[in-house]
Amino acid sequence: MIVGVLVELSNKKIDRIFDYRVEERFIDSIKIGIRVEVPFGHQVLEGFILEIKKDSDVSNLKSIINIIDQDIILNRELIELGKTIQKKTLATLISCYQVMLPKALKAKKNTIINKKYDIYYKLNENIEGNFNKKQQEIINKCMMGKIKKEELVKISPSSLKTLIKKNILIEEKKEHYRLGYQDSSDKIKELTINQQRVVESVDLEKEDTYLLHGVTGSGKTEVYIKLIEKVLKNHKTALMLVPEISLTPQMVQRFSEVFGNRIAALHSALSEGEKYDEWRKINRKEVSIVIGARSAIFAPLSNLGIIIIDEEHSDSYKQDNNPRYDARDVAIIRSKTNHCPLVMGSATPSLESFARAGKGVFQLLSMPNRINGKKLPQVELIDMNQEIKKGNSYFSSELVKQIRDRLYRNEQVILLLNRRGYASFITCKNCGYTAKCPHCDITLTYHKTSNMLRCHYCGYATNLDKKCPECKEEAISSLGIGTERVEEELRKILKNARILRMDYDTTSRKGMHSKMISEFKNREYDILLGTQIVAKGLDFEDVTLVGVINADTSLNIPDFRSSETTFSLLSQVSGRSGRSNKEGSVIIQTFNPDHYAIQFVKNHDYIGFYRKEMKIRYQLKYPPYYYICYLKVSSKNCQEASRETNKIKRCLEKNLKEEIILGPSPANVFKLNNIYRYGIIIKYKKDISVYPILNNLVEHYRSNNKVNLELDFNPNHF
Ligand code: ADP
Ligand code: ZN
Repeated sequence: MIVGVLVELSNKKIDRIFDYRVEERFIDSIKIGIRVEVPFGHQVLEGFILEIKKDSDVSNLKSIINIIDQDIILNRELIELGKTIQKKTLATLISCYQVMLPKALKAKKNTIINKKYDIYYKLNENIEGNFNKKQQEIINKCMMGKIKKEELVKISPSSLKTLIKKNILIEEKKEHYRLGYQDSSDKIKELTINQQRVVESVDLEKEDTYLLHGVTGSGKTEVYIKLIEKVLKNHKTALMLVPEISLTPQMVQRFSEVFGNRIAALHSALSEGEKYDEWRKINRKEVSIVIGARSAIFAPLSNLGIIIIDEEHSDSYKQDNNPRYDARDVAIIRSKTNHCPLVMGSATPSLESFARAGKGVFQLLSMPNRINGKKLPQVELIDMNQEIKKGNSYFSSELVKQIRDRLYRNEQVILLLNRRGYASFITCKNCGYTAKCPHCDITLTYHKTSNMLRCHYCGYATNLDKKCPECKEEAISSLGIGTERVEEELRKILKNARILRMDYDTTSRKGMHSKMISEFKNREYDILLGTQIVAKGLDFEDVTLVGVINADTSLNIPDFRSSETTFSLLSQVSGRSGRSNKEGSVIIQTFNPDHYAIQFVKNHDYIGFYRKEMKIRYQLKYPPYYYICYLKVSSKNCQEASRETNKIKRCLEKNLKEEIILGPSPANVFKLNNIYRYGIIIKYKKDISVYPILNNLVEHYRSNNKVNLELDFNPNHF
């Protein structure tokens, strides 16, 4: 017997299947999709068996050394899926399999993660002999069935030992998982007519993709739950993705109320051991629902009956390192393989998905109203240009007035500090002006060392001038504000308010985030102040005011999606207000009150925003009209990186006539860990024209030790 093994070598040059011989003693254990140890040069490596065959073209084959898994860890579907992802991302095949598995199962990561066992004892068939009192007590207890070791130890450790030695008791090990949910108790809510209509529109026997556009508070969660219930009744399984479950505890809680221990959860806040256990529950078909973040799309569920992706617009579904896959694309592939529907929901769908729905590629489902006729909140815009003149740099008079009003009425407030901008860009502190590239309509990035502003799409550069070209003040700076600072200011103004600050610092400790959420829900605080995490999926009855402190930060990030991100964020956070009987309102502080993204948020007009933004994307040749691939060239040697990037650019220009090639330009973060990075952007219409040439480039640079080339299709950031 010969097997084809894909070995794990960190060296990027080798990404191939090698043939090995299987000795007689291993033959019965060989299966496709298990890991084995194989000799490779002078090393012993781990690898996945991907093929079983009779003969090989290679002579002098070496033999496999050992078998690692009893159970298959990559089933046939995942093996095929890995190959497809490899072709789409041009990453190494091995990385496409590694990303599917919990760390404990990745080849050669040297992580040893134990399984945990409960030990039970039961009586042997014949129990003859003389026993002392304690021994008899143990035997009597075991007459009732299997008894847990701990209970018997309590009676007498030495008697237990004796009975085991005499073969009176037989040991049984049962694996014990680290996590578990209670049995379910709650019922599904009775659906409204609108929700019912949506549920009935989904054909569970077909592989269609549905886009559920439902405003905030329209009851999408219950729709998902109902769909899953129907799927389980058909004896199939369900896979549900959420942007980051540790940040959406309310959703997981609702699911566990209904489905209890039929759920396994997979997300980054779990320990490696917990992930391993959850994964095995799935692999052994002990659960029928998986809820998880991005990588849960690879959950080894068999007999898949539905895939659901909540908050479809979230950029967390795209992985930022190799393999740079998009869970939404993977979901489409899995839905086709399993002939089951994919339902993607959002109050603010991504432009790409909404455009596909417009073309009939996806089926559009919509829930335009909140549950039980509740109104969407009134949104008021505050022009910060005016407030600055009054000396209010953080909080406008109107926002303060309304917060006081809510405190007085014993209602709650959510305040968002928009900190989307991680890149260094500059703004005018007086009027909010930001410099943009004349060619790409992209915010220019500030490069400290050269004191210049650069467009990292096309490479355009200009000197930094402290004087603002709009208001003529010397107020251009790169200063941002943090939540701590805002909290301080807020405490000065509102001495008695109980303020809870929630950002990535205060929630990084395990369990902190859900603790804070329940404290806020229990009315231990009046004001929840935080970054983007307060915008996500929270449902508090008593919140009747949402304030956005600085709407513009996300408008100014150097990214063609900045308007979309801003529209989506502000709509989402607005949606936290007035979700129960009390009417809600929203105050948005901005330097750009006339910006279309902000105007459309005010009017709750997703469709209006979509149309306007699509025109701009069309004019500037951005997605969804063009695909984008970002080529990142990096090297320790700056000149080498620059030279190779130019070479690549020339090669692309020679081979791609229809496509648009931008750059090279220094990457957003040009120098990182002493590695210099340049980027080239390709805008293209057809996969077929660019893939062969890009594939050649990737192959070529595999054997270059000095320069590294990475590709990112449909990137989140450049
Ligand atoms: P979305 O995810 O669309 O923003 P949610 O699923 O959070 O909305 O639902 C909003 C609120 O409406 C929640 O408090 C939920 O419990 C409630 N709700 C949803 N469906 C129903 C229903 N059919 N009957 C009563 N309440 C419902
Ligand atoms: Zn430019």
